[in-house]
Amino acid sequence: MNPAASTDQVPAVRLRSVTRSYGRDGSTVKALDDVSLTMRRGTFTAVMGPSGSGKSTLLHCVAGLDRPTGGRVLLGDTDLTGLSEARLRRGRIGFVFQAFNLLPSLTAAQNVALPLRLAGRRPRKAEVLHALDQVGLRGRAGHRPGELSGGQQQRVAVARALVTRPEVLFGDEPTGALDSTAGRVVLGLLRAMTDEGRTVIMVTHDPVAASFADRVVFLADGRIRDELDAPTAERVAARMAADAAPSPASPAAPSALSASPAVVPC
Ligand code: ADP
Repeated sequence: MNPAASTDQVPAVRLRSVTRSYGRDGSTVKALDDVSLTMRRGTFTAVMGPSGSGKSTLLHCVAGLDRPTGGRVLLGDTDLTGLSEARLRRGRIGFVFQAFNLLPSLTAAQNVALPLRLAGRRPRKAEVLHALDQVGLRGRAGHRPGELSGGQQQRVAVARALVTRPEVLFGDEPTGALDSTAGRVVLGLLRAMTDEGRTVIMVTHDPVAASFADRVVFLADGRIRDELDAPTAERVAARMAADAAPSPASPAAPSALSASPAVVPC
């Protein structure tokens, strides 16, 4: 068998019965409770769910920033259990945060070069400019973050995440601080990364952002509650509204809203 082909078939990320508990004795919180998920290479997954449902914990466990209390996380063939964060992060994963986290005193190019320097490499100008080119900001290489719009700063942050050519790119509310136009540009860039074979995993609260993904995974109380393939913003919003609505089965106390005939469940 062709070994390259078999490597390609290994999923980018696998979670196997992952549990992450916090606290001790009587006051244990299961932030993740027996979560199993597979992300194929070159796919874009959005993770959604109410506050406290386990989204950040899932992202951190997959990125090797936190360790599961039970189960396994595999990045390609690599079992993250027992692997040091530094070794894992060297080139295999990239991060884009809601707050762009650029260093204000450095130029866009210097910010992009930072992960390479931190990995002990001397950045080549061409690779830094290529990363900025990918986000349409080659012409702003010499600008500092304060001279760029929010959308442009986030594009620099995407370039910084890309410069190490990571297999998996994580977004933690990457468009949360952007207006809708700038947000769509950033989401389009993340989407385009999957065409190059990169795998994108993004936490979001925004149905429009989620609609850029191939699949949405809904968490509730640390468990996978639902999945939606080929999501549209409308379907995601409807799914979220269904979660927020009171269950018809529950003998709910009448509220001001349920007194209205328009919202009484039939
Ligand atoms: P989300 O990102 O969906 O808001 P989190 O993953 O941050 O959810 O949290 C899931 C659950 O785990 C919550 O009940 C939260 O209070 C708990 N939790 C998260 N981090 C810690 C921690 N460091 N110590 C104790 N509990 C935590």
